[in-house]
Amino acid sequence: MFRGIHRWRGPGTLVGMLNGEMQTDGGEHAVRRPTARSSDEESRDASVLEVHLVVEKIGDGEAAIAHEKRLSTVPLPTTGLWLGADDAGNPRVIEKGEDDEAGVAVVPVGNRTGQRRVLLLPGAECEVRINGFIVPRVALARELDVVQWHPGFQIHVVLFGRPKHGLAPSRWVGRECPHCRTPFTAQSRCLMCVLCGTPVHEETADSDLRCAAERSTCPVCNQPLLKSPGYLNMPDLD
Ligand SMILES: [Zn+2]
Ligand SMILES: [Zn+2]
Repeated sequence: MFRGIHRWRGPGTLVGMLNGEMQTDGGEHAVRRPTARSSDEESRDASVLEVHLVVEKIGDGEAAIAHEKRLSTVPLPTTGLWLGADDAGNPRVIEKGEDDEAGVAVVPVGNRTGQRRVLLLPGAECEVRINGFIVPRVALARELDVVQWHPGFQIHVVLFGRPKHGLAPSRWVGRECPHCRTPFTAQSRCLMCVLCGTPVHEETADSDLRCAAERSTCPVCNQPLLKSPGYLNMPDLD
């Protein structure tokens, strides 16, 4: 919906994050359900992609610093949460039963084509903008979109990945590594792309195939190839 609209930013400082999790498994993406964490073998085995919301204070400078410590990382559950603002202009989680008309429901969503989004549902008294444009009653924000509904802060949507390292997935055994063209065996140690699930060889004591080390991007989806937990992209705050 917002493709092609250039990003809108204001000056500010990075003061906090909120996050929610999605898992990726071989190109399929699904919102991770809390109940699946301990009972589902596949979810433990898969790479995890999380949506984080980076809160940037854009109000008065001194006020931003004074409240910096209060804005630590707040987990965004897969069922989402309501975000409002406190009197000092900081984002605040609205508890169940509170007046939520001035807040926004924020829910991480994913689908099977690899899209990762945040669903925004503004309350009746809340006007939300994505990249500077007023959104309808329901809107999806994507990576690096800037969401604003309060003059004191704005929120950047970022992706945080925890890539899986391990044996080549069974469906890849016998197929060529997309980097070195050597077929994977059931014993091949691999790094899986956190976005699309594609494996590439990782060097081990028994193998000198250093495909993961030689690449900075995934050979299939061309996105950054995360080798350890980290952000795929961060907003350019200056
Ligand atoms: Zn390889
Ligand atoms: Zn990939």
